Amino acid sequence: MLDTATLSETQEVLQDNFDYTMFAWSKQKNISPIAVKYAKGVYLYDYDDKRYIDFSSGLMNVNIGHGNQRITEAVVRQMQEVSYVTPYCVTKVRGELGKKLAEICPGDLNKAYFTLCGATSNEAAIKLARLYTGRHKILSRYQSYHGATYGTLSVGGDPRKLPDDSQQAPNFVHIDIPYRYRWNHDEESMLTDSVAHLERVIAYEGPGNIAAIMLEGESGTSGCLQYPVGYLAAVREICDKYGILLIIDEVMSGFGRTGKWFGFENHGIVPDMVTMAKGITSGYIPFGCLMVTDKIAARYNDTVLATGMTYAAHPVGCAAALETLKIYEDEHLIKNTVEMGKYMDAQAALLMQKHPCIGDFRNTGLLGCFELVKNRTTKEPMAPFNAKPEEMAVMAKVAAKIKELGMYTFVRWSYVFVAPPLCVTKEQIDEGLAIISEALSIADEYV
Ligand code: PLP
Repeated sequence: MLDTATLSETQEVLQDNFDYTMFAWSKQKNISPIAVKYAKGVYLYDYDDKRYIDFSSGLMNVNIGHGNQRITEAVVRQMQEVSYVTPYCVTKVRGELGKKLAEICPGDLNKAYFTLCGATSNEAAIKLARLYTGRHKILSRYQSYHGATYGTLSVGGDPRKLPDDSQQAPNFVHIDIPYRYRWNHDEESMLTDSVAHLERVIAYEGPGNIAAIMLEGESGTSGCLQYPVGYLAAVREICDKYGILLIIDEVMSGFGRTGKWFGFENHGIVPDMVTMAKGITSGYIPFGCLMVTDKIAARYNDTVLATGMTYAAHPVGCAAALETLKIYEDEHLIKNTVEMGKYMDAQAALLMQKHPCIGDFRNTGLLGCFELVKNRTTKEPMAPFNAKPEEMAVMAKVAAKIKELGMYTFVRWSYVFVAPPLCVTKEQIDEGLAIISEALSIADEYV
């Protein structure tokens, strides 16, 4: 430990965090965190008043932008009225939030079960699907992410996220869904091959054993791996054929991020259950929700749903969520996402012409990423699949440059994410892409 008397305020904040808290930087020394003092709109500011444009909306959750006073006021009002009740009591705000969510969800997804975050929403969905169907297996995509609890880590079929393979919980089965950029198949055969693969897995596992298929509304953390056209509609049909529930995880793709309230709406389907978090409160308060259809909820009209968490349906979380949903509407944020998403696509296409290290850019609304390669022909990734921190040297340099130039964004494996808050303007997209462009010049040298 250093003598803190000689440190600047920034260094002191960093030092206390290094010395007394555990987080990614304890293992991955290449992560050098920004000591954030305050945040406003699309910008973070450190203790030296250096400004960083937030190009991943925190962890793709601060959709309305930072420092919105309306949320502060709603939260304070709620705390003054009632700051906590058990989930066995009800509050006005909880009912109002349920009603608002039922209004924005399509079909008969009308019943809300409130949780604490994305992982606990997914845990609740898994438990409920097993109770409802009396089956035990859950199918999900390799290379997906559904949370960091024991169960949800096993749902996300990405070996890079499991601390070690022995921690894989039983009865989670993974399916392969095309990685469009790397499969080199035409759209039609990607669809037919992946649907045939799913049918085979269901036959091997036994349709009568499968409670649910859980998929992201739009892939995020694993590299924005978009579904083949028609894939989710085909999955919906297969689920109906075998009495399997379709759970769509909208934790990252929900609340305007993909240009609709929910990512699945881009695919013309209605799931049986939808899990939510992140954008529901825009990250201001930890909160989550599982929406289920009337039919599923009806099972529990005369049976107790034996599940509960101390902080479920927390009134302050409900108040933050309700106000956040109003802000999406009042500030026309979903419309802005569609417009800014198109602008982002056009500008990213120009960057591709300039930087040979960009293998692919994919984006839905404002959920996108650049995939960096060493060679456009062989598509050799800039960092190997399953890369350990020490194999991420080039990407670490890119990340460091991005930070130095005044940007915070999520840089992972060979991906540089672009997912700014949904209130972003064209000028701010230009500012962010200019920083990314300068940082990518480093990766170009390795092509
Ligand atoms: N599901 C998806 C699709 C996610 O992207 C995430 C987090 O990134 C989660 C679930 C987990 O959410 P939380 O970190 O709030 O538990």
